[in-house]
Amino acid sequence: MKVLVINCGSSSLKYQLIDSESEKALAVGLCERIGIDGRLNHTPAGGEKVVINETMDTHETAIKLVLEALTDNNHGVIKSLDEIGAVGHRVVHGGEKFASSTVITDEVIKGIEECNDLAPLHNPANLIGINACKSLMPNVPMVAVFDTAFHQTMPAKAYLYGIPYEYYEKYKIRRYGFHGTSHSYVATRAIDMVGLDKDNSKIVVCHLGNGASVTAVLNGKSVDTSMGLTPLEGLIMGTRSGSIDPAIIEFIANKENKSIEEVMNILNKKSGVLGLSGVSSDFRDLENAATGGNERAKLATEVFAYRVARYIGSYVAAMNGVDAIAFTAGLGENDKNIRASVSSYLGFLGITIDYEKNNIRGKESIVSTEDSKVKVCVIPTNEELAIARETVALI
Ligand code: AMP
Repeated sequence: MKVLVINCGSSSLKYQLIDSESEKALAVGLCERIGIDGRLNHTPAGGEKVVINETMDTHETAIKLVLEALTDNNHGVIKSLDEIGAVGHRVVHGGEKFASSTVITDEVIKGIEECNDLAPLHNPANLIGINACKSLMPNVPMVAVFDTAFHQTMPAKAYLYGIPYEYYEKYKIRRYGFHGTSHSYVATRAIDMVGLDKDNSKIVVCHLGNGASVTAVLNGKSVDTSMGLTPLEGLIMGTRSGSIDPAIIEFIANKENKSIEEVMNILNKKSGVLGLSGVSSDFRDLENAATGGNERAKLATEVFAYRVARYIGSYVAAMNGVDAIAFTAGLGENDKNIRASVSSYLGFLGITIDYEKNNIRGKESIVSTEDSKVKVCVIPTNEELAIARETVALI
């Protein structure tokens, strides 16, 4: 079956057409600047990237252009839309309602709408994508795959905040966690690569990209994760502060004469390694700056790696042990220095890195030494493939 995987943002839309038998992407693409002007980058497998500049006033127009690109005589990869057997949508927040992926019905759409409050920037955009596909391909079954679903197995002791319980009851304020599709995919690969029995396995997955989170996966299930009610909690990220003393919000607001919204904007967009370094949110820039003697760029990467190591340590305690630590996403897959730096705190677990093996980028491999008690893996994430698999399984 050919599955169209859609990841819809507020002004962008990423897509892949995946052949579920070969598990290969037949085409990948990105619509940008939807509602502004519009640009579509479309790349058929093994072919040249095509850039289509056409007005995209709405997401529906963008999806129409994607469907045209997929069936185009020159750069298309299918003859007709009838070849698309299903559509898989990435949905950011499923609240407590959705503990697994689900076939999209009108009731499910209503359920996703009810979670809008919890992800006001993301869920409405995801719904726009769902509704646009529904009107353009009314007979093609669709599946919603939630970023939060994998973490619904967290026990109450991990997901509750230490605030009045009535806020959990009234508003569902609790920890949800994100990047679930990635954590689940990578944990499954790690179990396979290391040759573990899933029902007797302890994995810590470090998804380190511009957004970053760590998850404790016990016997294939998420039992704790570093992001919370929103993706702001936890690790220090590219531009996000991660966990801070909540009193800092009032303190900055008073000192800088800013509103809560303005302080939240600073914590989301101007903090993290960008805020610490004053250089960039991109670790490649930080490494270049640090090599050139920029002390704050060096400090920012140290603070980042230290926080990752602290989370790993706490999750080893949560699971009473660990078999493997897996690194994924832009930084985890590509940056040998960050992997080495994080691992340098973990000698007490019997972890030793093989620096030669660690000198790789974006390739599945075990980078710890043969005799390392805990295996360290690099596993490129593939959220689109995971969404396609879930979609096929449900259709
Ligand atoms: P993601 O959000 O998963 O796309 O990851 C993006 C981040 O990964 C970027 O901000 C970079 O900091 C980091 N990254 C990507 N490629 C590399 C690389 N080759 N070396 C070091 N860091 C990288």
